[in-house]
Amino acid sequence: MDISQRKRTLLKVIVLGDIRVGKTSLMNQYVYRKFSQQYKATIGADFVTKEIQVDDDKLVTLQIWDTAGQERFHSLGAAFYRGADCCVLVYDVNIHKTFDTLNNWHDEFLKQTDMNDSEAFPFVLLGNKVDVDDGNSRKVTEKRARDWCASRGNIPYFETSAKEGFNVEEAFLCVAKIALENE
Ligand code: GDP
Ligand code: MG
Repeated sequence: MDISQRKRTLLKVIVLGDIRVGKTSLMNQYVYRKFSQQYKATIGADFVTKEIQVDDDKLVTLQIWDTAGQERFHSLGAAFYRGADCCVLVYDVNIHKTFDTLNNWHDEFLKQTDMNDSEAFPFVLLGNKVDVDDGNSRKVTEKRARDWCASRGNIPYFETSAKEGFNVEEAFLCVAKIALENE
């Protein structure tokens, strides 16, 4: 089949999570294969796009929205969330608080999008910065994260490193697939 005849779909993906967990870094690693140690606060809501192929015959354009500045709850507004096909939640496996606030991000997303059936909407959870290894830095076990995912309607879970590119490609392929199913 000619590539131009293939189905091409635009999917809106929203990335949420506490400040400094690596949201911008994950996107930069995924789209540009770049990583920077330096921290730069994300300013304004912004998106990047990446075209990928899913299941042999589907071309998908992922439009991935990064979140801005303070990343406070209620600071983003309904327009930001509108039309989302998938929501990626990110926490830092080395900082417990970023795991605890996942409940708030999850609830906030469902509230802003007026979702009635919360189990039906596709979320993906990323436990980022698994490369950090200085003795006992890891604070949230994989089992805890997977239990949380199970309790929230079987959310797919990936442990990632934006720094090393570990599992980043795999995670966003999963995002594309479940967003397509939801579309
Ligand atoms: P954001 O506020 O969630 O967008 O977080 P950033 O992507 O700006 O990352 C915050 C800081 O963590 C930056 O200094 C990054 O270099 C660093 N960082 C992000 N991801 C990783 C990772 O996977 N491993 C390590 N070691 N550092 C990371
Ligand atoms: Mg950022």
